[in-house]
This record gives sequence, C-alpha cells and structure tokens, in this order.
Amino acid sequence: AKGAAMVTAVAYRLAAQRKQIDAVLAPFLLSLETLRDVMNKMRTELEYGLKRETQDRATVKMLPTYVCGTPDGTEKGKYLALDLGGTNFRVLLVKIRSGRRRSVRMYNKIFAIPLEIMQGTGEELFDHIVQCIADFLEYMGIKGARLPLGFTFSFPCRQASIDKGTLVGWTKGFKATDCEGEDVVDMLREAIRRRNFDLDIVAVVNDTVGTMMTCGYEDPNCEIGLIAGTGSNVCYMEDMKNIEIVEGNEGKMCINTEWGGFGDNGCIDNIRTKYDKEVDEGSLNAGKQRYEKMTSGMYLGEIVRQILIDLTKQGLLFRGQISESLRKRGIFETKFLSQIESDRLALLQVRRILQQLGLDSTCEDSIIVKEVCGAVSRRAAQLCGAGLAAIVEKKRENRGVEHLQITVGVDGTLYKLHPHFSRVLQETVRELAPRCDVTFMLSEDGSGKGAALITAVAKRLHNVGQK
Ligand code: BGC
Ligand code: MG
Repeated sequence: AKGAAMVTAVAYRLAAQRKQIDAVLAPFLLSLETLRDVMNKMRTELEYGLKRETQDRATVKMLPTYVCGTPDGTEKGKYLALDLGGTNFRVLLVKIRSGRRRSVRMYNKIFAIPLEIMQGTGEELFDHIVQCIADFLEYMGIKGARLPLGFTFSFPCRQASIDKGTLVGWTKGFKATDCEGEDVVDMLREAIRRRNFDLDIVAVVNDTVGTMMTCGYEDPNCEIGLIAGTGSNVCYMEDMKNIEIVEGNEGKMCINTEWGGFGDNGCIDNIRTKYDKEVDEGSLNAGKQRYEKMTSGMYLGEIVRQILIDLTKQGLLFRGQISESLRKRGIFETKFLSQIESDRLALLQVRRILQQLGLDSTCEDSIIVKEVCGAVSRRAAQLCGAGLAAIVEKKRENRGVEHLQITVGVDGTLYKLHPHFSRVLQETVRELAPRCDVTFMLSEDGSGKGAALITAVAKRLHNVGQK
C-alpha cells in the first residue's frame, strides 16, 4: 500500500509538472487562424512600404535594389566579392564563363571579425575589411589586378543606384559607430584609398538578392530570395508600376523587403511572449527587428535560454539551480539547436551536448530542453512561412493568375542545418497559399556568387563603377 501511494505521488507530481510546462509553451503554439492573421498583416505592411505616402513610416521598408533583371547566361569574367553580415565574413574570387560551357568557379577565404571590430568605429571596421581583401589578393597571387567588385552587405540599405547604399541601421550583431546614414560604398572606397590601392566597386547587394540571382541563373522562374540564417529577410521581383518611390512603370525591380522589421509598430504584439520581450530588451537594437527576433538563428537560442531560465525558476528543470552557463547570453547557437532537435539523436547524446554547454542535466531535463527547442523553432518556421505566403500571394495577384508557379531561392544556416525548419516552413506556405505552387531551391553560396553575377550584369548594362 505504501508503494502504491508513492507511485501515485510521483504520478501526481509529473502531471502537475506537465501542466506547468504546457502552460509555458502554450503561447508558442500558433493556430492556422493566427498564422493567417500574420500573413494578412504582413501583406498590409508590404503595401505600406511600397506606397509613397506611407513608406517613410513603414516597418517593412521595401527597399528598391536597382537590380532589374536576372542573369541571362552571357555574363562572364573575373570578379571579386565580399560577403559581410552572415555567419562568416568572406572574400571571394569568382570566375564566370558564358556560352555552352557556362560555369561559375569560386575561391574564397573566411576571415574572423572580432567583436570589438563589429562594435567599434566604422573606420576600424572598414579598415579591417580592406586588410582582409589585401590578404586575399596576396594569397591568390593577384595583388595588382583591378577586378570589378560586388559587395554583399547584409543589412538594410537605401539605394539610389546599384553602386550606392546608405545604411539605414545595423542589425544582428553589428553596431559599429558612424555608419548609419552613411554610404557604405563610399566608406569602403575611402578605406581602400587609405591603403593606397585601387578596386572597382560596381555593386552593393543584399544577401537575399544575391541568393535570388544565384538561383535565377539556373531557374528563370526564381523571383524570390529568402534568407533564414543569422538574420531573416526576403526579396522579390516587383512590378515597377507598384513601386511608387521609383520613377517608371515598365518592367520589374527587385525589392529588398527587410521584413525583419515587421511588427516594430506593435502589430504582432498579440503573439509575442514575455520571452520574446526579454530577448528584445537584451539585444543590441531593442524594439527593432521584432519579427526577425522570433524567426532567425541569432535569437532562437536566446528565446530557448529565457524559457529554460523560467522553467528552472519554477523548479521544473536543472533541480531548480540556475547555473553560470545558463546565465550566459548566446550559448545556444543554431548548430546546437539543430543537434538537440535531430531525431537521430538519443537522449544520452542530448545530455552530452548540454554538458558541453556547461548544463548538467538529468534524463528528464534533456527531454524538456528538447521540447522547448522544438516549440521555439517550429514557431519560427511557421511565422517565416506565414510571411512567405504573403509574398507569393502578392506575386500571384500581380500576375493576375489563378495559379502561380514560382521558385524561391533560399540560403541561411537555419534553413540548411536545422532538421525541421525547412519542412515546417514549406508546409506552412502550402497551407496558407494553396493557389501557389512554390519550389524551394537551395542556393549554393548565394551571397558570393550572386554578388558576382549582379556585378557582371551591372557591368554589361550600365558600365557603372569605372571612375
Ligand atoms: C538584415 C537583412 C539581411 C538579413 C539576412 C537582417 O538582419 O537586416 O538585410 O538580409 O539579416 O542576413
Ligand atoms: Mg550569408
């Protein structure tokens, strides 16, 4: 009888625990209705960003990119590309061949950007970038070559031409001073001049645009570029007649939506949890990029960490002890989340990963941690899917067709590494935009290749850059 009483007590405790955990995770479960609401709100914000009267207040900035066409296969030559703003900073040499043997070959080198440079002065940041370019040219044995350069700069830029871009505001982990409101191409040119060498900067390109162009090189139906990585963003080809702030009504132009800022006016506060608010408040850009903070790799681990702290405080995890490690910002990188959520991983292995992060877990703990990660990443993929559904639906209406067939070029660590993100994203788009038949195409190195392709197209069309 005593044994039975104990079993009942344990069962009771577990049921109570279960209830508490479910209560914490409940706000992360989004109904189809809620997702549809997110899609509709995104659509509204997209329109605000395109309209002359509302665009300067719009949270989804809808920035014109001056990229007006996809590559046609006649591009050729050698190009330099820079890729700043993703997981790594890289310098690349890209060789494009046209005609029947068309191909793209790339050589690249990854350079670290120390935290004190990411968050130092703008001059230091650009000097560092130019130092890396110089190292790369030396390393490749092409020191004196004055190659056309495409600069993939993965931050919001207001452009007035393909080779000008004023930084609207830093996002993700960057916060160098004296850059916001400045032209990043000018800053790069000045840093190059300070070192007494010469480069022909032809284009400044957002990573989404590079990704779309890279996939467009293979598939002309690719008119959307998506990044689900450290940050989150989308670009797409929009009809010129809908872009009120750019002269002209013929043809199309690629719009960098900067959808990461969606919700900065409070329009999705109904689904933001207290954990989202904590992550926002602890970030470099509080109040900004609210949607990005719910959907991208840089922040998902932080949301998880906030939930784990709360569960621990409630005595549901880690024996109620908040360890030193758990207090550390940024411990759960995308790669750890991806590992923890991998279906092939046994619980023991999950515990080992947690151990690596300095978290001592019981078997029960590791189950709970995995569940938390799952809830957070699933919501991220669904929200991203709701946003994308708004974009494809808009494209469908633009074309005036019942049924749209379209390809989305995708890049980013979250999309590529996470075991479930891409699937849930695709399912959500299918569900919310049933009249669109969306093909997802992984971009092989969109940021580097794309920048080179755009540079090649720009060279051909406008002969810009040479000064
Ligand atoms: C930036 C975008 C970029 C995205 C993905 C965001 O933080 O604002 O410009 O495309 O990250 O890298
Ligand atoms: Mg990138």
